[in-house]
Amino acid sequence: MSVQADIHHNLNFKNSLEFAQMMDDKDALASFQSQFTIPQMSSSNFSDSQSHQQKNEIYFCGNSLGLMPEKSRQYVEEELIKWGHYGVKGHFESEHPWMPYHEFLARPMANIVGAEENEVVCMNSLTTNLHLMMVSFYRPTKKRFKILIEDHAFPSDTYAVASQLKFHGYSPEDAMIKIAPRTGEELIREQDIQHLIEQAGDEIALILLPGVQYYTGQVFPMEKITQWGHNKGCMVGFDLAHAAGNIEMQLHQWQVDFACWCHYKYLNSGPGAIAGCFVHEKHHRENLPRFSGWWGHDKTTRFKMGSEFHPIPSAEAWQLSNPPILSLASIRGALDTVIEAGGMPALRKKSMLLTGYLEFLLLDTLADKIHIITPENKQQRGCQLSLTIATDTHSGKDIFQRIENAGVTADWREPNVIRIAPVPLYNSFSDVYQFVDILSKSLKA
Ligand SMILES: *Cc1c(COP(=O)(O)O)cnc(C)c1O
Repeated sequence: MSVQADIHHNLNFKNSLEFAQMMDDKDALASFQSQFTIPQMSSSNFSDSQSHQQKNEIYFCGNSLGLMPEKSRQYVEEELIKWGHYGVKGHFESEHPWMPYHEFLARPMANIVGAEENEVVCMNSLTTNLHLMMVSFYRPTKKRFKILIEDHAFPSDTYAVASQLKFHGYSPEDAMIKIAPRTGEELIREQDIQHLIEQAGDEIALILLPGVQYYTGQVFPMEKITQWGHNKGCMVGFDLAHAAGNIEMQLHQWQVDFACWCHYKYLNSGPGAIAGCFVHEKHHRENLPRFSGWWGHDKTTRFKMGSEFHPIPSAEAWQLSNPPILSLASIRGALDTVIEAGGMPALRKKSMLLTGYLEFLLLDTLADKIHIITPENKQQRGCQLSLTIATDTHSGKDIFQRIENAGVTADWREPNVIRIAPVPLYNSFSDVYQFVDILSKSLKA
């Protein structure tokens, strides 16, 4: 949808439950909610008259843990049955044998992040993959040894970068450059990123930034950052924890060197699901430093059990171990659900409307009480809106507690942000309407 058409559409939003229900009726993805298990409100949340009923929570926490797709439950169960039935022979038996199981995920995964099939692999966890990528792509020299990250990076990313620097003998104080919003601002300005890379680029070995900032929901201009970095000779990688399954990307075309993400947030693959990793094709045949394991070895000779490592010329070369199949099965179910829904273009189209509707209702109802940190421009945000609440009578935490008690699952981040993430696969326009209703009652009470 063009930005123009979208803005036009928002102008026609109406602040009523009937309108929200009408949007749900017209929503091509509405039926997908029934493919997910929606947590139920605990009975303590009901007034007495309802206490015998089941009632769905209003779940806006897909940016932290996505809900369970029916297909994931089904595919995991299939693998358990296979294990019982075949034992070790399950590596080669059935439609989805374990030996090449991760290969079944490559095509759908590649489509989601805009990559070639041989550029993506599901393995390990997000932070582990950040380390493995830095082993290969952070190659400091005397003149060029710094890493550029953002000031408010997710803690795990900061710890990983600091420990890599120390591992190479540098102090984070000298070698970690942090880009921050200007004083009094919440978002990082594009021109400030560009300026910093132009200024300090000659000393920067690696740029490691998020695709979508976890706290503010700001989308970083990944294509431009990659260009600016490459112009100065830096490696450029992205943490896509909040971007994968949320916004559309073209990692291959943008020439991004590497990227890492998790599958338990917008990709609905379950708590601690193994992570995803992208390595651009241009690096597959380079003789890079790498921490190796047998699952990265040439598949045709892996079981000759030789002592010399021959890397697979693809992202698979970074695999260490044979992967946890139950986790891969869950991811396969979640990816199949995304495919069935029409892939990222379909998800993104609804997401823009859904989050646009949330924004419209918040501004229409509560403009004087809440402040939206997340960018207004739809191209610069995904599902999530981050709110701060300004009242004289209640703290933000207090309001958060009230909406939770009323059956809303959202996310509180210190010092004072409530993150709300309506997810196109299982959230409805009615969810959004009811949430804003609950929030405004909580603010009045
Ligand atoms: C969620 C998230 C993580 C979590 O890391 P794990 O290794 O999966 O525990 C790391 N970085 C960012 C930016 C995240 O959003």
